[in-house]
Amino acid sequence: MDGNNAVDVIIVGGGNAALCAALSAREQGASVLVLERAPEEQRGGNSAYTGGGFRMVHDGVETVRSVVPDLSEGEIVNTDFGRYTAEDYLDDLGRVTQWHCDPDLAETLVRRSTETVQWLHGRGVRFVPRFGRYAFKHEGKFKFFGGTVVEAAGGGRGLVQAEYAAAEKHGVRIRYGTQAKALIRGRGGVHAVRCDVDGEEQDFACRAVVLAAGGFEANREWRTRYLGPGWDLAKVRGTRYNTGDGIRMALDIGAQAYGQWSGCHSVSWERYAPDFGELDRPITASRNGYPFSIMVNAEGKRFVDEGADFRNYTYAKYGRIVLEQPGSYAWHVFDSQVEHLLHEEYRSKGTTRVQADTLEELVAKMEDVNPPQFLKTVREFNAAIARDVPFNPNVKDGRSTQGLAIEKSNWALALEKPPYCAYAVTCGITFTFGGLKIDTRTHVLDMADRAIPGLYAAGELVGGLFYFNYPGSSGLMAGSVFGRMAGREAAEHARTGAAAAA
Ligand SMILES: Cc1cc2nc3c(=O)[nH]c(=O)nc-3n(C[C@H](O)[C@H](O)[C@H](O)COP(=O)(O)OP(=O)(O)OC[C@H]3O[C@@H](n4cnc5c(N)ncnc54)[C@H](O)[C@@H]3O)c2cc1C
Repeated sequence: MDGNNAVDVIIVGGGNAALCAALSAREQGASVLVLERAPEEQRGGNSAYTGGGFRMVHDGVETVRSVVPDLSEGEIVNTDFGRYTAEDYLDDLGRVTQWHCDPDLAETLVRRSTETVQWLHGRGVRFVPRFGRYAFKHEGKFKFFGGTVVEAAGGGRGLVQAEYAAAEKHGVRIRYGTQAKALIRGRGGVHAVRCDVDGEEQDFACRAVVLAAGGFEANREWRTRYLGPGWDLAKVRGTRYNTGDGIRMALDIGAQAYGQWSGCHSVSWERYAPDFGELDRPITASRNGYPFSIMVNAEGKRFVDEGADFRNYTYAKYGRIVLEQPGSYAWHVFDSQVEHLLHEEYRSKGTTRVQADTLEELVAKMEDVNPPQFLKTVREFNAAIARDVPFNPNVKDGRSTQGLAIEKSNWALALEKPPYCAYAVTCGITFTFGGLKIDTRTHVLDMADRAIPGLYAAGELVGGLFYFNYPGSSGLMAGSVFGRMAGREAAEHARTGAAAAA
């Protein structure tokens, strides 16, 4: 290692948080090196697997237009974007995390959300309205629900492609196939990163480091160790490269563990999906239509309120509940009244789907489900529905059951119009919630809440924001807000702090 050849800022990781940090550090005039563990064709971490959704504070069409300038008149007239205030966002974060989320981090995320999406737009990321998934057409007009109105054009792959293009254009250096293993700390703070490059150890010198290497969801051993028994068998929805390296490297030099280490984002996922995500078809294994279904387990019993809330507020915690069922699988069962509401992934190659004209025939085709109990479950469910309340998928319609051990709070439609169909699911893990403690300027903190000089963090390896659950599309938003800030802070440290210590 030659200290004279040090770059100002090293970014560990190559997903959205990392690229936001790289772009922002570069904007401050710092020289920047991105170390991405994945090979170039698999770059981008989980960010590349996403639908590209961003949850930001917005005031309806005017905010949307600030990041989607080519919004057409037709789209404006035929869409109700609603509003999503800072208070709504903070309430959602508080409510779904059972009020555990760190209030300072939450406040920072929320208050900086809109300007950060606008900043990304200014760096060449194109956004489009999130029609289809987050808006249903009702009486000729699209109405958005659940807080998320825009996504990056081309989804996660489009987002990552635009970010790498901007990084390259602005002179950020990128090394692929470079796995960071350790942080080297001296008198002035962290000043180098030890890496494995094709099996050979190499040190890269710098003046500050931003860790943005994702969570530990792809580490089977850590999953079992921290999330608990059974998690070794969960399917990983995204990249195989997020094994907790960034977290471990920081803990090794005294950083503080923070957030919910036993918690994660996990969803209903195709039962026979591969062990890791597939970058060329990243969401085809998603099974998000369950609010319009009944979900049954091997015993033929319902086990959760499928309609407790909009999908956006329940999907991330229901994977765990599926994992906890006997055999860690379940079936989503629909009838013909709602099949048109299911997204296209329900029709994708590799979907485990059965269909029949009677419930008796259907359950005979559902592997490993107790038929008499299933038929009893459906009979009781159908009989418990408040049929006088109209069904409306756009709002929490209050069409519920009454008198069941586990009620369905909304969208309760009797299973009575054949053909019936059922989809087999298991638990797919998206990302882990536990990680490092940072302050609101992204300094990584030690056990005494002191900043470790020259060390910053952003993205999923930061703990404290999400517990038990997650409001959909907050991950990219958090990575962008804190990544952007980490890049700026690291550049500033490289300019002033490291120089002062030299
Ligand atoms: C299928 C799917 C759909 C999703 N949809 C959405 C959505 O629409 N909206 C949303 O907000 N969130 C979504 N998420 C969650 C979202 O992916 C994360 O919140 C976000 O991408 C995290 O960004 P990140 O930069 O922290 O991590 P990542 O994007 O995972 O990046 C981590 C990077 O670190 C690299 N890395 C790991 N270890 C090392 C090492 N030792 N050395 C060097 N590099 C290393 C990895 O290769 C990777 O490039 C989705 C996730 C999945 C899997």
